[in-house]
Amino acid sequence: MAREFSLEKTRNIGIMAHIDAGKTTTTERILFYTGRIHKVGETHEGASTMDWMEQEQERGITITSAATTAQWKNHRINIIDTPGHVDFTVEVERSLRVLDGAVTVLDAQSGVEPQTETVWRQATTYGVPRIVFINKMDKTGADFLYATNTLRDRLGANAHPVQMPIGAEDQFEGIIDLINMEAHFYKDDLGTVDESAEIPAELKDQAEELRAELIEAVAETDEDLMMKYLEGEEISVDELKQAIRNATLAVDFYPVFCGSAFKNKGVQLLLDGVLDYLPAPTDVAAIEGIVPGKEDEKVTRESDDNAPFAALAFKVMTDPFVGKLTFFRVYSGTLESGSYVKNSVKDKRERVGRILQMHANSREEISIAYAGEIAAAVGLKDTSTGDTLCDEKHPVILESMEFPEPVISVAIEPKTKADQDKMGTALAKLAEEDPTFKTETNTETGQTIISGMGELHLDVIVDRLKREFKVEANVGAPQVAYRETFRQAAEVEGKFIRQSGGRGQYGHVWIKFEPNEEGAGFEFTNAIVGGVVPREYIPSVE
Ligand code: GDP
Repeated sequence: MAREFSLEKTRNIGIMAHIDAGKTTTTERILFYTGRIHKVGETHEGASTMDWMEQEQERGITITSAATTAQWKNHRINIIDTPGHVDFTVEVERSLRVLDGAVTVLDAQSGVEPQTETVWRQATTYGVPRIVFINKMDKTGADFLYATNTLRDRLGANAHPVQMPIGAEDQFEGIIDLINMEAHFYKDDLGTVDESAEIPAELKDQAEELRAELIEAVAETDEDLMMKYLEGEEISVDELKQAIRNATLAVDFYPVFCGSAFKNKGVQLLLDGVLDYLPAPTDVAAIEGIVPGKEDEKVTRESDDNAPFAALAFKVMTDPFVGKLTFFRVYSGTLESGSYVKNSVKDKRERVGRILQMHANSREEISIAYAGEIAAAVGLKDTSTGDTLCDEKHPVILESMEFPEPVISVAIEPKTKADQDKMGTALAKLAEEDPTFKTETNTETGQTIISGMGELHLDVIVDRLKREFKVEANVGAPQVAYRETFRQAAEVEGKFIRQSGGRGQYGHVWIKFEPNEEGAGFEFTNAIVGGVVPREYIPSVE
């Protein structure tokens, strides 16, 4: 079976934003214009497409997805979900690894906000090319140039408008395309009628000024263009676009777009921008990996259908319809449904049952996933987030993702005792999806302990237990791991000692002794009762 879209016509992108900037609304409008959903809903009324599970279950469609595939002007755009909250930085980093470019959404009134900074810097660390969408141009206080300036002032980003708004706030009527020097007006509420027109006379000077600034800034990144510019030669639209594309791919330049997702203005032009300026998988450097067991032997894998298969599993989800779904990005080669692959991290052979591509309101079964594509596999038993799937004859481990240890732990118990097993199964499933979430049972106290990256992270887990698994649970006070070395008699080694003084608000305190690395004494780890072991509970030393 041949490819439907060539690799050059594929874009794997993320949409990044500060909470409330309009990521959900923008994503939803993108899915609307790319023809995959048919009703525009408002996020705050709970009818939005990307807005989570309950409606998905009600409507029986796939809207919760780690990756959604859309089509625009004969291209395939895979939108990879990038979580917005700082508590989930690991999830953000994971998604940044598998996408090739991103759209940063800003609020036209506030511009760059603190959380934009965090995600922006992470994207810079991963070398992700970005275009910027200044959203909410219809909002009171919206100021396109101010918002653009916050990119330069607060992030030091070489960001320049490739568009300018026609009017603002309730007078926001359309957009001037500074590349082609034409205006776009939106005549109907859904913004489906987009007529290009002359630039209004009163905005002509400003548009020309911004275009000149744009050319100058882009020329800074391109010697040939600079020569032409200095010699006053005509720079064609194609040359300008190509130079902007090159500079954006080099993460030297950020083209700035504007619009109002909510009022359906500017989203189609933004999609054109995704095709024009964000990379295809062929534009990004080949991924590096190591040969299993030979940590020093580096190999690279090109985006090439004929190369040996290698893919990275970046998200595992439990799907109400098909069970465990493993989202993966193919870096090289192809994957056929029904075939066997190697999980090189776990050193296991896995059979790929079905392969699915998720659209906004449908899921499509595909028989082959090609290099550069993103899809989900059904049937992988042992694969978890971060694992590499590869050709058995050409094993590789793609730069494995290192996840930080959880920083917070709480004791958890079901409100109804009978739910204990159900809760255990549910927690195990959640831990499989999320490498920064851990669950364990303390053998001495019998308590179930869950650990994660922050309070919000664990709140979300408890909430998911309730909504998805119908288990209501109580959690105990957060407990922070605590280790200390001190001298103790040798006979305590490996034992848990119940500290009699440890009863009270903390319950019993259990202390486990293990020899420390230097053999100079023993370390104790407080066993979990729901609080840090207070100093006074530590058995007296020597
Ligand atoms: P997210 O948190 O970034 O996903 O933001 P949402 O898409 O949920 O939007 C947050 C709020 O801003 C919602 O109340 C939206 O209706 C509103 N909103 C989104 N886009 C626009 C816009 O273009 N103009 C205005 N005025 N409001 C918008």
